[in-house]
Amino acid sequence: MAFSLHGVNVPHRKNTATIPAVRMPVPKTVSIPMVMHIGKPAKPVVKAGDHVDIGTLIAEQDGFISSPIHSSVSGTVTKITDMLVSTGAFVPAVVIESDGENTKADLTPPVINSKEDFIEAVKKSGLVGLGGAGFPTYVKFNTDKPIEHFIINGTECEPYITSDTRTMIDDADDIAEAIEIVDKYLNVGQFIIGIEKNKKEAIEKMNAIAAKNSKVVVKVLPSRYPQGGEKVLIFNTTKKTVKAGKLPIDVGCIVCNCTTMAFITKYIKTGMPLVEKTITVDGACVKEPKNVIVPIGTALKDVFDFCGGFKEEPQKILYGGPMMGISVPNAEVPVLKQTNAILALNKKEVYAPKQTACIRCGTCLNTCPLGINPEAISRAYDLRDMPKLKKAGIEVCMECGCCAYNCPASRPLVQINKMAKIAYREYKLEQEKEANK
Ligand code: SF4
Ligand code: SF4
Repeated sequence: MAFSLHGVNVPHRKNTATIPAVRMPVPKTVSIPMVMHIGKPAKPVVKAGDHVDIGTLIAEQDGFISSPIHSSVSGTVTKITDMLVSTGAFVPAVVIESDGENTKADLTPPVINSKEDFIEAVKKSGLVGLGGAGFPTYVKFNTDKPIEHFIINGTECEPYITSDTRTMIDDADDIAEAIEIVDKYLNVGQFIIGIEKNKKEAIEKMNAIAAKNSKVVVKVLPSRYPQGGEKVLIFNTTKKTVKAGKLPIDVGCIVCNCTTMAFITKYIKTGMPLVEKTITVDGACVKEPKNVIVPIGTALKDVFDFCGGFKEEPQKILYGGPMMGISVPNAEVPVLKQTNAILALNKKEVYAPKQTACIRCGTCLNTCPLGINPEAISRAYDLRDMPKLKKAGIEVCMECGCCAYNCPASRPLVQINKMAKIAYREYKLEQEKEANK
C-alpha cells in the first residue's frame, strides 16, 4: 500500500468560519454517557439525588485506556440510566437536572513539576481527542519514545465544520502556550501545524505563533479531503509512512488536534476539566448556522433550538461532517466530548444515486489516500475470505469515504468495509481463542 495525495475535492461549505462561537444558555437537563472516548466506559461515582457543580467528577476512569467524566452543569443527579447511542449500543448515562445557578466546583489548577505530573494532569482533565477521534490524550502523551515531530492538526477537511478554525483564530494564544507546555514536559523535536490553505485568517494566527517560536513550523496544505486523516497528515507533513499495525509514535510522531491543544492551556490555568465543547451547527435545515459553546450532555434538539430551529424537517441529523459523520437515531442524543459538529441535512444534501454493479473502473483504488483497493475488499468480504481481506488492507482502512464518494456505480464501499472489519475482528478473536486452547 502506497500513501499518496489522493483523496477527493469536496465542496467546503464553511458557512460559519467567520462567526465567533457563542455560548448557549444552560439546558434544563444534560445526559452524559459513560462512553465518550475510545476504551473502557467510565464508572459512575454519583447516584440519584447527589448535588453536583460544574466540574464535579461524576465518573472515574476504568482501566488504562479510559477517561474520567465531569458534570457540565450545577444541579442534581436524577438518574443513571441506559441510553441509546449512535453506534446502536445502550450505554450508561448520568442524567443531571440543572439548578440554573452555574456553580463551579471548588477547583485548583494542577501542580506540575515533571512529565509524570503533566501526564497525570491531562488524564484527570478528562481530555480526549477533540477532533472527533475521542482517544484519551494522556495515553498518546505517555511515551518514552523520542518525539521527533509533534503535529498539530488544524486541517479541518470535512465540509461545513469550522469549530477548529474558530479555535485557531480565537484561541491562538492558548495553542501557543500549549506548545510551550508540551515541549517542556515531552521534549519535542519540532512542532508542525498542518492547516489547509482555505483558512486564511487561521493561517495568519498560526504563522504568528511560528514567528515567535523557532521550534514551530506551519505547513499549509491543499484543501483536499481527507487531509486531516492521521496517517495522511503525517505523510503530507513529514513524508513518513505509518505502516499497518504501527502507531505514529513508531515513526517519531504524535498528532494532536488544535482544539485539544488549546484545552490543555485552559485546564492548566484553571483546573476546570473538559465540560463543554465548541461545535459547528449547520446544514440546510438549520435556520441560523453558527458555532456554539455547549455543555457536554446537552440534547442536540436544545442546540438546534438555540440556532433558531429548523427551516424544514431534516432528512438526516449527523454527528460530525458528511464524509465521516454518524447519523443519529433522533435529536434527543447528547453532545459528546468528541462532537465537533452537528448537521441537519435536507433531501438534496443526503441524496444518494441508485447503486449499480461494479464496472471495475479502478476509480476507488486511485482515490484511496492509503492506497487500498476497496473493490478487492468487497470481493474478499463476499467470499468471507479473511486472509484476502487482510491482504487487501481491511485493518488499515480509516473509513474516510473517498472511495464511495467517487464510485460511478454508487457502491456502498464504506459500509462494506465497516462490515468486513467486524467480520475480520471476529475471525481474529476466533483465531486467538483457538491458539489459546
Ligand atoms: S469505483 Fe466503484 S465501479 Fe469503479 S472499481 Fe471501484 S467499486 Fe467498482
Ligand atoms: S474508506 Fe477506506 S478504502 Fe475507502 S478511501 Fe477511505 S481508507 Fe480507502
